[in-house]
Parts: sequence; structure tokens; C-alpha cells
Amino acid sequence: MSKFYCGIDLGGTKICIGIFNENCDILALKKIKTNATIGKEEIIKNIKSSILETCLEANISINDISKIGIGSAGNIDSKKGIINYVVNLPDFINVPIKDILENEFKIETELYNDANVATYGEYKLGVGKGSKNFVYMTVSTGIGGGVVLNGELYEGANSNACEFGHATIDYKGEKCRCGNYGCLDNLASGTAIRKRAISEIKKGRESRILEIAKKSVDEIKAEDVFKGAELNDELCKEIVSDLAFYLGVGISNIIIYYNPEIIAIGGGVSKSLGYFYDDMMKIIKERTLKSSLSVCSIKEAKLKDNIGVMGIAALFKDNM
Ligand SMILES: [Zn+2]
Repeated sequence: MSKFYCGIDLGGTKICIGIFNENCDILALKKIKTNATIGKEEIIKNIKSSILETCLEANISINDISKIGIGSAGNIDSKKGIINYVVNLPDFINVPIKDILENEFKIETELYNDANVATYGEYKLGVGKGSKNFVYMTVSTGIGGGVVLNGELYEGANSNACEFGHATIDYKGEKCRCGNYGCLDNLASGTAIRKRAISEIKKGRESRILEIAKKSVDEIKAEDVFKGAELNDELCKEIVSDLAFYLGVGISNIIIYYNPEIIAIGGGVSKSLGYFYDDMMKIIKERTLKSSLSVCSIKEAKLKDNIGVMGIAALFKDNM
């Protein structure tokens, strides 16, 4: 008889819940908005009811689930199953999510760092397949990632390895929310792209971005900047060119540290990789070790919105 599992990807803006079997086939997938403003209790209530709804959609009962896995954003303690804090969910402090779900459903539950889960998913089921040394970098609202070394997920001493977004790129740069200065996150994340466009326009810089996006200045998103660059808007082209530079420097360092065979770039900004890939590669060629680059390919990640659930499926499969 088939065994069934439940995977939950808990993020600051959305939650994805999936039911899968031992072959990592997804039987049902549900996405809901996290909605930080409703508060912790309501968010947890939504997760519980969505688990039941997703089971229903997969035509199974909650009692058929053998194990639940959660990949959570923020800072977590995977051993204790506690979410310490999530930057985008202000009241998510010291949440014993493992105990909460185990008490509710009487099903064994595991908590993981979402970037590690995504890394393992992309490694086993995406473009990392077949490699032994693999890096996943997500460029989205923020920048994060993970690494597989010699076929094993490397998590670090307390699950904080590979916080690529908080490595210094500009040593004279602005202070980041993490306390460091000139972090990659502050220069190349979707949030950084968006903020820079908004601030330049407010300073009176000429640009057609508002006309192109048909939005007011505060509604501008990173994807509008890419659209503007494609239509030859000078400000947008400058922002995208700087993005290629900063990401190129960040990735050059990653190649020097890990000597990986594959680096997969995922997250929202990766959908626009075509706009800056060549410029980014030019920087990487200038700034990393040739011998390491000769064995490394840098690709867009294959798994998209379901990467968190797929990652849990891959982790469960390999630990069964
Ligand atoms: Zn930082």
C-alpha cells in the first residue's frame, strides 16, 4: 500500500501545502496567502485547515498521512521544532510548530529551514540531479540559499549555513536589517531593486518606468524594472546592470568557497535571469578562479513555486 506524506512551505507572503507519495509524486497542492496582519493564531489555524483540505483534494484521509514536514522561513531550531522568528511575520516568535501539529493530528512532524529544503529539492529533483557538489541560491524578496557537499546537505553548526544574502559585497555599504553593512541582500534582492527604482524616481530621476508599468511610484515592483530595461529605459538598464554586477560578485565568491559543479538560481528574480545572465557571467569570469569556473555551470532552477514541498518529498524519500 502507498504511503502518503504532507509537506508545508511556510513563507512570509505565501504558504504552500502538498500531499505526496513515497515516489515524490505530488497528489494535491494548495497555496494560500500567509497574510501577516491576521496574526500567529489565525495563520496556524489556516495551516491546519489547509492540511485537511489538501488531504481531501488528494482523496485521502488525514489518518493516511505518515509524516508531516515543514520548511519555514526565518530563524528556526530544527531539533526542537521551534520557529524562533520570521522577519516578515512579526508575532511569529518562539512558535513550537512541531508540537502544535503533532498535538493536533498525532502525526510525526519535522521542521526544516526553507532554504535548505529548497536546496535539497532542486538537487534531487531539479537541475542538480547527478551532481555531487551543488549550490542553490534564491533571489526573491530576500536572498538565501544552501549547499550540498559530496552529496550531503550541509546545514552548518546551527542551521545557518549559506546565508548568501548577508555576505558583505560593498564594505562601505548601508546597514542591513541583519546588522552587517553592504549585504548582497541590500543590493541585489527583489526588494533592493524595487526600493532603488522608487528612491531614484522620488529624487526626480527621469524614467519611463511609471508609464511602462502603468503604476504609481510606490507600487513599482522588481519585474517592472526588468520590463523597463527591455524597453531601453536608462534608469532601469542601470539598475539591472548593477544587479548583474552584485550577483556576479556574490556568485564568484560562492564558486571560490565551494567549487560546485552546478549553481542553480531560483526565486522570483530568476524568472528575469535572461535580462542579466550574460553581464553577470562576464563579472564572474573576471572575478573567480578559472579552474573552478571551468567545471561549474550556472543555471536557472527548474522547480518553481512547489520547490518547498518537493524538497520535503526528496528529504523524506532519502531518510526513509
Ligand atoms: Zn544583512
